[in-house]
Amino acid sequence: SKDAGGGVFHAYEPRLHAQAEERRVLEQALRQALEKGEMYLAYQPVVDADTGLLTGFEALLRWNSADFGNVSPAKFIPLAEDARLIVPIGDWVLRAACDEAARWPGHARVAVNVSPEQLHNPHFVTTVASALATSGLAPERLELEVTESVFMHEGMGATKVLERILELGVRLSLDDFGTGYSSLGYLSRTRFSTIKIDRSFVQGAAKGAPEATAIIRAVVALARSLGMATTAEGVETEAEHHMVRDFGCSKVQGFYFSRPVLVEEARHLAARRERE
Ligand code: C2E
Ligand code: CA
Ligand code: CA
Ligand code: CA
Repeated sequence: SKDAGGGVFHAYEPRLHAQAEERRVLEQALRQALEKGEMYLAYQPVVDADTGLLTGFEALLRWNSADFGNVSPAKFIPLAEDARLIVPIGDWVLRAACDEAARWPGHARVAVNVSPEQLHNPHFVTTVASALATSGLAPERLELEVTESVFMHEGMGATKVLERILELGVRLSLDDFGTGYSSLGYLSRTRFSTIKIDRSFVQGAAKGAPEATAIIRAVVALARSLGMATTAEGVETEAEHHMVRDFGCSKVQGFYFSRPVLVEEARHLAARRERE
């Protein structure tokens, strides 16, 4: 109100309060989401850029809350990270994805997103090994996606943990490349199989932005010289597919090929790939 001195700051207070309250309530619901069976995985196909054939799926977490309906991962993942819930939730994702992929006919890979908090947890390597052992999934069919941010505090030992993950025979992808912190030094220390090029660059290049085009070309060249593959993310049209393929990207992922699908559909697609 006007007599509250200054006005502007005061005027925002109710909104800030409402936001904090929404967060608190959402966090409370998130704490119970797993036991209430409100979480599930969707699987987005990843295809070979040249042949268009399925190479695997990225597991993407979904939360259908009894109280809030479908909540976007962009909203609840950061919340889970802040509330220290990402470790139990991430463990569940890893186990569910490995169990599911072990049932697919053929050799489609499954990629699982890993938050920095999970990687820095002392039990992480054991959890991965146990998810593989329990499911019977061949290690080379599991791919863990990490972002550059895991290397931000090298004192936390990300390189060592990733080394132990590689020793299990699991693959690593570098997600959202170029959007975060980058010293590039870690690229020479950690053997990634794939660098994932963020959707923002694909969309930028599609709109003709010379910077985005230059970045994609440079990342493809860098990846090649390091013996790594590249996946272009967020490919939404045929023209974008052709563009990134001509830039030399090895794999593509995006709504043009498929949105993330439910387990049954993923199984069906894996089976169809086997028959091709
Ligand atoms: P991400 O790892 O970069 O995953 C790709 C996101 O892009 C997914 O959003 C996917 O649905 C979306 N996407 C794929 N193709 C297209 C396209 O052609 N156009 C557009 N506009 N979007 C596309 P989603 O599922 O909402 O996930 C958002 C983010 O949440 C993920 O980004 C990832 O950072 C995080 N996330 C999702 N599941 C998990 C999980 O199990 N664990 C962790 N730690 N993070 C997760
Ligand atoms: Ca990802
Ligand atoms: Ca990504
Ligand atoms: Ca992204």
